Amino acid sequence: MKPQLQMDINKIKHNVRELVKKANDKNITITGITKGVCGNIDFATALVEAGVDYLADSRMENLKKISFLDIKKMLLRSPKMSEVNEVVQYADYSLNSEIVVIEALSEAALSQDKIHNVILMIDVGDLREGIWFEDEQIIYRTISAILQLKGVHLVGIGTNLTCFGGIIPTQENYGFITRLAATIRQTFGIELPLVSGGNSSSLHMLYGGVIPIGVTNLRVNQSIFLGTEIAHGHYLENWESDVIRLQAEIIELQTKPSLPQGKKAYMNAFGKPLSPIDKGIRKRAILAIGRQDIDINGLKAIDEGITVEGASSDHLIVDVTDSNQSYEVGNRVSFRLVTYASVLSGMASSYIDHVSIHKTV
Ligand SMILES: *Cc1c(COP(=O)(O)O)cnc(C)c1O
Repeated sequence: MKPQLQMDINKIKHNVRELVKKANDKNITITGITKGVCGNIDFATALVEAGVDYLADSRMENLKKISFLDIKKMLLRSPKMSEVNEVVQYADYSLNSEIVVIEALSEAALSQDKIHNVILMIDVGDLREGIWFEDEQIIYRTISAILQLKGVHLVGIGTNLTCFGGIIPTQENYGFITRLAATIRQTFGIELPLVSGGNSSSLHMLYGGVIPIGVTNLRVNQSIFLGTEIAHGHYLENWESDVIRLQAEIIELQTKPSLPQGKKAYMNAFGKPLSPIDKGIRKRAILAIGRQDIDINGLKAIDEGITVEGASSDHLIVDVTDSNQSYEVGNRVSFRLVTYASVLSGMASSYIDHVSIHKTV
């Protein structure tokens, strides 16, 4: 049997309902994102059933997968020039920062008798996508150019935070975006209904009641399955955090010293020098999963007596000495996934089975 990732659909729905209620109370719509789980259909369906206003993904492969769901869809990553036709076909909206791409989208839309909705991204400091917020001339010049195009409709501006530079949303940077939107509306006489703020790192502001008025949409991905906000890593009140679990099988269970013996190489197979602590003789299990399957740093054993010691490409080594349970070769060990990197890598892995479970919460 392959290792298994189990996604609890009811917990996902519960978290999304909490999120949607909190946001809609403040006149903020929610874009539910499927990229963290590779466009998983059960996950996407749960988001729609729990009331998100839009579905979004950064990849066209995933948007195609969920195209049968009856909801407006957004492409999160700036379209590739080579995929504009598909973008217009499968996405109602896309996030953009390059005028040449927006021009190509307009052409593609006209050829399909469509109008494609464009959100112009502004970089307020995180240094990923978007026109740099201090380059006002470029912002206004780009908007003028977009408004000349017949195949696209400029529906909003947006900003992305935390993903690259680790910068969190604040009154200051969100305040800037909302003031910019107001100025654009005035200058160009357009509606510009969407002011789309980033990410799971905004939820501390939503819960603290300090999101500046004027932010009208939030795009949320990892909080839905981690159950935490991302600015400080705090659990969200009344949210479920044990949403995705991994199970892997024991292939060796033996008693060994906790320190390697012999002459050391300059590194191990993954470049990190080994510096284990001497805990004496320990009972160690090897599980049939490794770094080729999943980012092992986000694995936390459900059994509190088990610690993860490390892994190579295909072997995960855990210490079971302090566990109350008596494990045997062939048993499976369960873990919670507590980081985004673990969920992302595990969901993308073809060595792992992905199953949805529908337990009642
Ligand atoms: C991934 C992504 C998000 C969501 O980020 P999380 O912090 O994981 O919720 C929002 N917007 C864009 C453009 C993204 O690429």
